Amino acid sequence: MPGRILVVDDVATNRIILKVKLTKSCYEVLQASGGAEALRLAQKERPDLIMLDMSMPDIDGLEVCRRLKADRRTADIPVIILTAHRDTPAKLAALEAGAEEFLSKPYDDMGLLARVRSLLRARSIASELALREGTQQALGFAEAESAFVPAGRICLVADARAEALSWRTRLQERLQDTVELRNREAALNHAEPSPDLFVLTADLETPGGGLMLLSELRSRPETRHSAIIVVVPPSNQHHAAMALDLGASDVVSMPLDMDEMELRLKSMMTRKRQSDRLRRKVRDGLQMAVTDPLTGLYNRRYALSHLERVRGRARDTGRRFAVMIVDLDRFKAVNDTYGHAAGDTVLKSMADTLQGNLRTVDLVARIGGEEFLVVMPDIEPDAALNAAERLRSAAAANEVLLSGTEVCGPTTKHLQTISVGLAIGGSEPDATDVTARQLMEAADAALYRAKKRGRNRVFLGTPGDKPPVHRFHPTRESIAPPPPQQTAVVWR
Ligand code: GH3
Ligand code: MG
Ligand code: MG
Repeated sequence: MPGRILVVDDVATNRIILKVKLTKSCYEVLQASGGAEALRLAQKERPDLIMLDMSMPDIDGLEVCRRLKADRRTADIPVIILTAHRDTPAKLAALEAGAEEFLSKPYDDMGLLARVRSLLRARSIASELALREGTQQALGFAEAESAFVPAGRICLVADARAEALSWRTRLQERLQDTVELRNREAALNHAEPSPDLFVLTADLETPGGGLMLLSELRSRPETRHSAIIVVVPPSNQHHAAMALDLGASDVVSMPLDMDEMELRLKSMMTRKRQSDRLRRKVRDGLQMAVTDPLTGLYNRRYALSHLERVRGRARDTGRRFAVMIVDLDRFKAVNDTYGHAAGDTVLKSMADTLQGNLRTVDLVARIGGEEFLVVMPDIEPDAALNAAERLRSAAAANEVLLSGTEVCGPTTKHLQTISVGLAIGGSEPDATDVTARQLMEAADAALYRAKKRGRNRVFLGTPGDKPPVHRFHPTRESIAPPPPQQTAVVWR
């Protein structure tokens, strides 16, 4: 996942040394010799990462970092601040200015490149999520944000108990989040919900034992998205680099500086919340994008792509499948008589009836106002016809209670019939090339005939049949509604 890195340093030699190291690892390197140029390039080129010298003559690195983080266009670009200082105040100042990382010159190559990889990986996940969220917003699936932020959960995993207890107490004093202490087993087998953030010591039980736990946590679905900070022994750059490559979100060195830990934990928790929120939005958005809000059934968009998949699989297995279009009979009259809300109640009840009378592998979707699509994989024509008839008779027998209103009087029991057009796809010698569209048309044409013949019926269509342009609305006046018992299964 090589990326573009902006290297900012007023000393040309420093820039060149970094450029050589980064180019060797296939990163594209942009250079700026001062703060002002860095800000301009960051906005124009939108690099994936910025490595920023702390002391520069025009605008110093901390100020550049603050300005980058305050600008919506550049706020999400990770920043590593580079300096000759090794002291804690300089480190804290960098983190406070919003930098993701702080490195002292001269850098250890392995540690530096591991940091770069880890920051770029986190950024590519964040931008992927943001992109998907953007698509959903464009589609109109934006979610209202809640202002309430619940306390996060931090889990410390360390085996030097006295030390771990003291970390816990000192961190808990500084943070709103709950800090708990666990051993290795309890970290893996925790009760839901999973911690938002783990702090692990690299040498857990054995040298490097914490890194094995890190891999375990990363591979499990419950903790895959948790932030993980690994605490490494002083100057063990090898473990630090390994931890970052195994998916640690951050690495800190012992002895722990509590000011630094507080800053790192807080910014990590903020980032974790942001990515959780984005992930949730994407998931809910996907759900919303394929669901009909009134009935909770899948919508037309989902149903049609599902039908394509069922057709593809039928081609592979040589099995047959069925498509039904179900339309409510004289539904307009229900709205006209009892009101639109009562009509909605009938639609919801119909959705339940249809779903309750199908197999779990079958799909029922609402594809129009009072029109449903049923897709039944792996089914022979006789069984499909029986299923359609079962749906028809279940609908006709289902009493829907419509609560009374001033307009329509007392509570009413309504019986809503349906007409069903059925088409069979799959392994007829000449049927393999029948498209989903042709099947839908065949089912539609059959539905039209069911309507024409009096409604409350099931008709079977043949691929190649075409529905009339003004389907379902023949001379309605000329067709008397059938008495409830007058129902028929008709083969063409
Ligand atoms: P047919 O037996 O020929 O299908 O007659 P119909 O009255 O069911 O058919 P028509 O297409 O004339 O009317 C469909 C009605 O469905 C019109 C519309 O008001 C109603 N409808 C469509 N979507 C909804 C909805 O979401 N809620 C409610 N309450 N009614 C809806
Ligand atoms: Mg209708
Ligand atoms: Mg209709």
